[in-house]
Amino acid sequence: MTDTNDALANLTRIQRRERFDTCRAFGHSWSVQLTNDPEINNLVWKNYLRFDCSVCGAIRVDGLDAYNEVGQRRYITPDGYSYAKGETPTRAQFRGRVLPRLRREARNG
Ligand SMILES: [Zn+2]
Repeated sequence: MTDTNDALANLTRIQRRERFDTCRAFGHSWSVQLTNDPEINNLVWKNYLRFDCSVCGAIRVDGLDAYNEVGQRRYITPDGYSYAKGETPTRAQFRGRVLPRLRREARNG
């Protein structure tokens, strides 16, 4: 199972976009585990780490060499996460998108 994780199950398109903007603004919230998933672990590297973002559903895969250096890194991102080349807003722009929601949440406790 490499099709991103289920963090986005049952969310509306707008809620998904809010999650994507949050990760773009502040970084992903990773949990990590060793994996032997054959879709991820192609046996080139000694160990494979799978990172799952609990906010946006992205997956990061790191292949570690015999010295535990990252020999390969790749990302599997959910549909709608990526932008066309040259069209990705800046981190500051993503923060600007997220701040109104954070203000509302701060007011509402
Ligand atoms: Zn994320």
